[in-house]
Amino acid sequence: MRFLVVGAGFSGAVLARRLAEAGHFVLVVDERRHMAGNCHTERDAESGILLHRYGPHIFHTADREVWDYVNRFGRMMPYVNRVKAVSGGRVYSLPVNLHTINQFFGTTMGPAEARAFIAAQARGDITAPANFEEQALSMVGEALYRAFFRGYTRKQWGLEPTALPAAILKRLPLRFSYDDNYFSHPHQGMPEEGYTALVARILDAPGIALRLGCRFEDLAEDVAHVFYTGPLDRFFDYRLGRLGYRTLDFEEIRAEGDFQGTAVMNYCDEAVPWTRISEHKHFAPWEAARFARTVCFRERSRLAGPGDTPYYPIRLVAETRMLSDYVALARRTRGISFLGRLGTYRYLDMDVTIREAMDAAAATLERLGEGGPPPVFF
Ligand code: FAD
Ligand code: UDP
Repeated sequence: MRFLVVGAGFSGAVLARRLAEAGHFVLVVDERRHMAGNCHTERDAESGILLHRYGPHIFHTADREVWDYVNRFGRMMPYVNRVKAVSGGRVYSLPVNLHTINQFFGTTMGPAEARAFIAAQARGDITAPANFEEQALSMVGEALYRAFFRGYTRKQWGLEPTALPAAILKRLPLRFSYDDNYFSHPHQGMPEEGYTALVARILDAPGIALRLGCRFEDLAEDVAHVFYTGPLDRFFDYRLGRLGYRTLDFEEIRAEGDFQGTAVMNYCDEAVPWTRISEHKHFAPWEAARFARTVCFRERSRLAGPGDTPYYPIRLVAETRMLSDYVALARRTRGISFLGRLGTYRYLDMDVTIREAMDAAAATLERLGEGGPPPVFF
């Protein structure tokens, strides 16, 4: 059969590859002039450094099949995300670990002592945190919340932490050891040649045709089914309203040598308008010493307007209600399935995106085998 996949990010690429491997023809289009969606990386013309164009991306997963899959298409180099954070004029280690606690309180506690100390600071009366602030207070207490989470979160989301879901903070661990790995997954790494080279290899298969710089809206192809990984509300011409997103502005800093000595430095104080600075050569430590110059992105977050790149779905009550109306509309629309972080309006890490695309392909092939149309994934 002949399928159309809209979007050449991980969702579209993985799905297209699986369908093509099963003998189907897949046309993949993306309105951007590059593959890999928001994970796009490219060599900077001036310095030669591999830049993460839409913000830093670190691959981490507990899904062995997904890890094996990415390793099939690119060499994953060892990489551990170790974040530093500036708060109140000092530099700390993040996520909150024994080092952070001892640095912050000027102590030399061991694990058990620190655990008891934080338990005494934490709001034990909050047993079922209803929002981000309650989650933070019940986890680390007032002082650490104010130092590391309150200001950063207000800048990142433009909202009071009491208005945000607790789940946002649950992404971060709290450790009573000196393990400062930002992630807890067993597999973590960076593709040696970047994400775009990796996605290009996924899309390089007989049966896949790729058209970059091509908008779905401008196509008039006759296909059996469309898999759409673009924004759900945009597909329906925003007829039920616009789903809210945060967008990011990246201000480039170029300098000689080393700017900050690490890949990611968060800025937790509200008085500093940016949320973090990422220094891109440190995302590729195996080649960083080669570059005389350095390139950093200073990152600020704001509400996305029409024409801005959608980054983080906001998903508060109003958006969730609008989303369920769009989902109902999508279910009634024939000939199209929505997937990916924009198609389903969810914050998805790369590994989950890949897993969902693999599962979508398997469900599609199964349905076709039974003689039915591809499923709608909502
Ligand atoms: P996308 O990558 O957004 O791809 C969708 C593609 O569809 C885009 O290229 C777009 O141009 C195209 N498109 C949309 N509409 C149309 C249309 N109408 N016509 C033609 N083309 C269209 N995940 C991690 O695992 N680790 C990280 O460290 C990490 N860091 C992140 C940092 C930031 C700042 C952000 C925002 C996300 C991060 N993520 C991270 C998540 C990661 O970016 C996503 O998991 C991934 O990009 C999702 O892939 P996708 O294919 O679903 O969507
Ligand atoms: N966060 C914070 N301070 C930090 C880092 C993160 O308050 O220094 C909060 C913030 O609200 C963020 C959430 O924790 O949205 C999840 O952090 P993560 O690093 O996973 O954010 P993302 O990868 O989405 O940028």
